[in-house]
Amino acid sequence: MRNRALFALVALAPVTACASRSVAPAPGGTAGTLVAIFAHPDDETIVAPALAHAARNGATVYVVIATDGRRGVSKHAGIPAGDSLAAVRAGEARCSAAALGARPPVLLGFEDAGLSVLSPWPGEPLDRMARRVDSTLRALHPDVVLTWGPEGGYGHQDHRLVGDVVTQVFQSGAAGSARLLYVGFTAERIAGAPRWYGSRVYPTAPALLTTRIAFDERDHEAARRSIACHKSQATEEEMNESFTALTHLWNGEVAFQQWRGGPSASRFF
Ligand SMILES: [Zn+2]
Repeated sequence: MRNRALFALVALAPVTACASRSVAPAPGGTAGTLVAIFAHPDDETIVAPALAHAARNGATVYVVIATDGRRGVSKHAGIPAGDSLAAVRAGEARCSAAALGARPPVLLGFEDAGLSVLSPWPGEPLDRMARRVDSTLRALHPDVVLTWGPEGGYGHQDHRLVGDVVTQVFQSGAAGSARLLYVGFTAERIAGAPRWYGSRVYPTAPALLTTRIAFDERDHEAARRSIACHKSQATEEEMNESFTALTHLWNGEVAFQQWRGGPSASRFF
């Protein structure tokens, strides 16, 4: 990784306030449509430099967030669970998308931590979510779809379930000939990384991580600004810890497993 020393220095810099400026697309870049579907506002930070890199090179990037995060209470923010927190987190999602050069986020508005309820019947919220994801993918015509793999990063139930729903919809054909990619990290990178928000992510075998998107310092900086948007979820110290952990996990590139396999690739399109 060419810029590891530089990245390490940047990782130590404080994560500053939410930046409203976007990443300007590079003229003549690769056109294509990338749709990243995650569970919570702030999940997109795990692939942030890859999104920034794609947008900067001319891709149309959408971030779709399945839940409104109304139950994601953090003591430091002092915002109670419910509509007020959901509204704050919608604003943070918009801030993050702008920082990455993505289009305004698509917020599906499902309740977090409530996706696996057994009433009125098992899977009911997930069935509704599948229909929303289906219509969203059909409207956006992606070339590439990103989501959580079956491990859900560090195993969060919402992450696992959203990745499952996206995969279900994808295998039904709603995204045509697009590629579906799961973000992943090798055991080697995980072993040397600080915990990410107190947790360790589960590994993916290196041989499966066939799509690797190298990013540069501009994308890394955009990721830092994206993380800084989510003020309701983390103190500045925690944001810095998150950025440091992710910087180690990425090691200059964001790696993905392609659903049902695929050739090695160093670009999305
Ligand atoms: Zn999450």
